Amino acid sequence: MLDETPVVTLRGVGPKSAEKLAAFGIETVQDVLFHLPRRYEDRTRVVPLGGLRPGDHAVAEVSVDLAEVKFGRRRSLLVRVSDGTGSLILRFFHFSKAQQAGFERGVRLRLYGEVRRGPASLEMVHPEYQRLAEGDSLPTEDRLTPIYPTGDGIHQLTLRNLSDQALEMLDDDNLPEWLPGTLRESMGLSDLRAALRYVHRPPVGADLAALEAGVHPGQQRLAFEEMLAHHLSLRAVRQRATRLQAPQLGEGDALMQQFYQQLSFTLTGAQQRVVEEILHDLAQPHPMMRLVQGDVGSGKTVVAAVAAVRALASGYQVAVMAPTELLAEQHFDNFQRWFDALGIRTGWLSGRVKGKARRELMEAIQSGELQLLIGTHALFQDDVVFGRLGLVIIDEQHRFGVHQRLALRDKGRENRLVPHQLIMTATPIPRTLAMALYADLDSSVIDELPPGRTPVQTVALAESRRAEVVQRVQEACRDGRQAYWVCTLIEESESLQCQAAEDTAAQLAEALPELRVELVHGRLKDTDKAQRMGAFKQGEVDLLVATTVIEVGVDVPNASLMIIENAERLGLAQLHQLRGRVGRGSAKSSCVLLYKGPLSQMARERLAVLRETSDGFEIARRDLELRGPGEVLGTRQTGMMQFRIADLLRDQALVPSVERSAVWLLRQAPGHVAPIIRRWLGHATRYAQA
Ligand code: ADP
Ligand code: MG
Repeated sequence: MLDETPVVTLRGVGPKSAEKLAAFGIETVQDVLFHLPRRYEDRTRVVPLGGLRPGDHAVAEVSVDLAEVKFGRRRSLLVRVSDGTGSLILRFFHFSKAQQAGFERGVRLRLYGEVRRGPASLEMVHPEYQRLAEGDSLPTEDRLTPIYPTGDGIHQLTLRNLSDQALEMLDDDNLPEWLPGTLRESMGLSDLRAALRYVHRPPVGADLAALEAGVHPGQQRLAFEEMLAHHLSLRAVRQRATRLQAPQLGEGDALMQQFYQQLSFTLTGAQQRVVEEILHDLAQPHPMMRLVQGDVGSGKTVVAAVAAVRALASGYQVAVMAPTELLAEQHFDNFQRWFDALGIRTGWLSGRVKGKARRELMEAIQSGELQLLIGTHALFQDDVVFGRLGLVIIDEQHRFGVHQRLALRDKGRENRLVPHQLIMTATPIPRTLAMALYADLDSSVIDELPPGRTPVQTVALAESRRAEVVQRVQEACRDGRQAYWVCTLIEESESLQCQAAEDTAAQLAEALPELRVELVHGRLKDTDKAQRMGAFKQGEVDLLVATTVIEVGVDVPNASLMIIENAERLGLAQLHQLRGRVGRGSAKSSCVLLYKGPLSQMARERLAVLRETSDGFEIARRDLELRGPGEVLGTRQTGMMQFRIADLLRDQALVPSVERSAVWLLRQAPGHVAPIIRRWLGHATRYAQA
């Protein structure tokens, strides 16, 4: 099997180069085959020099007229060559004595290179060349020449050589076709090996534009199988979940009544529908794995709380995990307010809880005395052992991939029983992507905002109009409203961000002496952060200057104005999240996107999207179009899903047929499922043991 054949078995690969290849992600012969060319060159025809234009990549057969070393700004070897139709200069900046001596007058050469305009005539700089014997003419290539993405210390010629050997080795035993003929026919897919041969060595006349765009049927065949493998692995995760046992949570209508009665509002239709879906799942003897998507402000928290009520009433514990301390704390406030009244004991855990307090908390969690635990990742550290965990709620899950989801589920496992899992995200994911990425989850959408919200009016203003914006803040606050001023920096360094926020807060405090200005950023002690947020929430602070720590979840209905600096550098989804902090009350709200001009065309379009719509799904879709899924979903940070060949944006159209094929394959050829997953996802057991 080529996925088990290490590259060292290929000629020309020693331990040293194997190491370099491994660092580049190429460890097996199959990896060589799945490393596809980025573009192609046509070296199939010899072109007369008279017909060359700057920018051409061309093969020529020429003889040397003259070679001389020039000592200009840089020493270079210039070789004048001609072929009877025209002439050309070959320019070398690096050359050996022997090389120079080889260019005697009359020597015949086969050249390959890019034609450029030189000072005197057309030139090729460092062309590839071979010496031709008298009267001889080399056979030309009969295939297009692949150009591979190269890496540190890995040369183009090496990759070409390795792929030559790998293609040579291909047969039905070492790279079997796992897609049955009937499936391939109905989907119009070629067979795997033919696709690989074509894509690595396309014939003359192949559609280069399609190949270089990655949409040639050969490439699509490979992308299809890769996406299918991912999809099948997620389905397998889900399938296995149905074999796991979870507590059936179906009790407690009285407690539920009590909970609803003390709410100051009634659920929207969308919230009710999602609540029903969740309660239905919780009553099953298998673990729920449900994703709730809902735009910012759609009211996900209360939906989660209803799920918690059901688990608590059935005698189980609930864990609520948020991505930041700020958010965890806010959830803690909300849940405590709702649950104290119901006589439920709620606890708070972060990395900061230490010593005796932590030990006591741990005991209460283990004994089951503490029923509802809220916190950050700290909830899933090793020393936290739940006595009777029935439900795990994860807020803002776009930061988690399938592995983390599974790790969390296993964490709460006691004896045979696995807790239910509810995952909430405010990053709307277009449907096709959701199908590709979350096939292991069931999904619910809260597609309605609570009544009485007015859309946030959004404007984009150049940084040069800052003074006007400051004035606007002043007016809003004078009218009794509150405002956020968000400082963003693209620099990774948190300390730089915090510094910028500190400077801005100082400037604003000076410019607006009558306002109460406060600052929150990630470097503050958590108690300080919480205290300052609390003051803002209580209306004791008019203007809150903040870094993007307030990005998710913070809820202060009286805040009706938000200024976002450097808006052109943030992702649309992030801007939408930030903007979602205002427009939560009944007052008319606005958001000012401050940018540093001049804007690129793309930046202009992106800011326009935010002005035009406040629909998170639409924004996500547009962002995806403009920037691609890697950026939008932050896959690189989370390692959520790495494709070698497929590209979720380019290949979105394949998703529905990938889904259909998965269903068909599971039914008609179940034995092929595991090999396909293994081929593309390696022997990583993370999916297998899920
Ligand atoms: P998100 O979905 O962004 O997490 P939240 O759960 O923070 O939204 O809810 C946003 C605000 O809307 C909160 O102040 C919450 O109390 C309020 N809210 C939620 N559901 C309703 C409803 N059905 N009617 C009125 N207000 C609601
Ligand atoms: Mg929220």
